[in-house]
Amino acid sequence: MQLTFQTPIEYLKGVGPKKAVLLQEELQIYNLADLIQHYPFRYEDRTCFHNIADVREDLPYVQLKGVIQSPKIITTGKKRLVATLKDETGVISLVWFQKINGILKQLRPGILYQLFGKPTVYNSCYTIVHPEMEIFTAQTTQEKTLIPVYHTTEKLKASYIDSKYIRRVQANLIEQFPIHLPETLPEDLCAQYKIIDKKTALANIHFPATPEILQKARFRLKFEELFYVQLRLLQARQLRLEKQIGAAYKDTKLLQDFYQNVIPFELTGAQKRVVKEIYADLKSGKQMNRLLQGDVGSGKTMVAFLSMLIVLGSGAQVAMMAPTEILVEQHYKKLQEFAAPLSLQIGILTGSTKTSERRKILDELAQGTLQIIVGTHSLINENVVFKNLGLAVIDEQHRFGVMQRAKFWQRDDVQPVPHVLIMSATPIPRTLAMTLYGDLDVSVVDEMPAGRKPIKTVHYYDAQRLRVFRFVKDQISLGRQVYVVYPLIEESEKMDYKNLIDGYESICRAFPEVPLSIVHGRMKASDKDYEMQRFVKGETKIMVATTVIEVGVNVPNASVMVIENADRFGLSQLHQLRGRVGRGQDQAYCILMTDYKLNKKSRERIKALVHTNNGFEIADMDLRLRGPGDLMGVQQSGLLELKIADVARDGHILQIAREAAKEIIKKDPMLIQPSHYTIKNQLATSNDNSWGNIG
Ligand code: ADP
Ligand code: MG
Repeated sequence: MQLTFQTPIEYLKGVGPKKAVLLQEELQIYNLADLIQHYPFRYEDRTCFHNIADVREDLPYVQLKGVIQSPKIITTGKKRLVATLKDETGVISLVWFQKINGILKQLRPGILYQLFGKPTVYNSCYTIVHPEMEIFTAQTTQEKTLIPVYHTTEKLKASYIDSKYIRRVQANLIEQFPIHLPETLPEDLCAQYKIIDKKTALANIHFPATPEILQKARFRLKFEELFYVQLRLLQARQLRLEKQIGAAYKDTKLLQDFYQNVIPFELTGAQKRVVKEIYADLKSGKQMNRLLQGDVGSGKTMVAFLSMLIVLGSGAQVAMMAPTEILVEQHYKKLQEFAAPLSLQIGILTGSTKTSERRKILDELAQGTLQIIVGTHSLINENVVFKNLGLAVIDEQHRFGVMQRAKFWQRDDVQPVPHVLIMSATPIPRTLAMTLYGDLDVSVVDEMPAGRKPIKTVHYYDAQRLRVFRFVKDQISLGRQVYVVYPLIEESEKMDYKNLIDGYESICRAFPEVPLSIVHGRMKASDKDYEMQRFVKGETKIMVATTVIEVGVNVPNASVMVIENADRFGLSQLHQLRGRVGRGQDQAYCILMTDYKLNKKSRERIKALVHTNNGFEIADMDLRLRGPGDLMGVQQSGLLELKIADVARDGHILQIAREAAKEIIKKDPMLIQPSHYTIKNQLATSNDNSWGNIG
């Protein structure tokens, strides 16, 4: 039978129908393409031998060479076979609990063995339990080099589908490769980036002949994966730019008016640059799709408002969408403040807008009398019709999916499509932005408004709480306000609410004369708003809250943030929270409270926050510590379908792949040149089909 990559695995030598079902169920391996892409997650180095004297418990595995001595079966305690292995440097124990008699029969004392296993301590001796072993010959070492280790599951292991089994079927598959496997990257690209051919790469990712060729195989396969992701994104961007007409907004009178007469502060250099970038898009006649990145507090809202003014100045409408009601209200108030002196009409639309009010707003939007609308995703509802929507600003917080975003401009009744500006709440690591938002243009506000003092971040243990309370008291007597934040994780919601309420009560006791607010997700929206307002007005001095305050809240007089159980928050989330203070003139403080016991990763996170205020650095570290799977927005992006590349670790390959893709799309956006035939073919077929025929 001729195998192709689409052949179901049951037809591969060594698999069969029963094992095929298990491999499908447990590892989603259906066909040979799935199998060959079930790459090893590590390799065992069988190229060298350890000295027995160097064996330590923390070594993941060791390979030893020595003679077996005095094997015997022990019946006291758990029945077992024991022996020792001796080389020139020392001895180590060996133990077997299963198939004892058979193994004893085969063991040949005094003969040189080659042996492999994980060292542990058993009966206070270094021991290898159930070692893999064979009689040493010069030939066996020559064959064995880097041995691939594959992920399996407990269920698979119970059916003898372990790493060794997968190794065997991979070997069967690779043996049946034809001499020429179809190449899936163009020749000149392979030459330019010194990329090895596909067949060599696949054979060596599973069975590396040398560590050097393994490196090359990895590079090739990661590059290919990232290259096609980038090529798709960049081609989509290019085609959109070519096709998508946008209204051209050139009039800057309104912007100038605001800039010269109203704006309450001097723009930072970065804000000016980014507004220029956006203006260039808005007047170009092509639809803008731009991501606005910047650290917490860098002034993205002002940039968004100035962009709005360009569009409003030409008589079109603008919309701003945010993920939560609190954030929508915050934006609404801020924009209202900016817009009032210019007599612009501004409205708000959320899930809790009353029916009569909603009707009025929808009416005014359709008439065009309402110029600015701020809202939750209610805004992308079918019955919201604009007279002339020119710009949609989306404050994303990673929470809107790509599809939701597109709804603003993929409606048939909206032509030309509005320009789109997406604001990200926290900085996104470069590598991730390139992939999550790779089809967009990116502007970065990489400068903080002048006069901001960096926030002082410190770490205290729960046992030092009295000291923290004294500090809080001093700050309040200086006229400042304070946030105390508690984690709220869905899985442990009940406990978390209890902690919040307990914490609130202990703060009440510690500060009997200080007016407090409490805000959490179980309160009615109107109560939440009332408490927020009291804090904003300075009527209350301490705000005890769950992470509902995480996004956007702006109280310049609040200069201290105490974060309880700080180890339970993610790094970027902590940075985002911390950004709620340090918005005024006063020195701001962020106090991270934890238990004395902390695991290594939590300790690293806390240390990182104490060490830096730079959101981009923190985002990079977050990506490295957690991996992309845990970052918001990644789930629906398809990033996790990558088989071998890892955006957290392979940033440099991603960079090269993106550059390569860019160069090709620039020269040949439709990929019609003959030398791009391979690429075009690859893009046209789905991922699975792209693997072509084996024979
Ligand atoms: P973010 O980028 O986190 O959304 P905001 O837009 O909320 O930041 O801005 C934070 C605070 O800084 C706001 O109070 C805003 O009015 C103020 N701000 C913005 N730009 C400047 C500037 N150039 N100079 C001084 N203050 C500014
Ligand atoms: Mg903001």
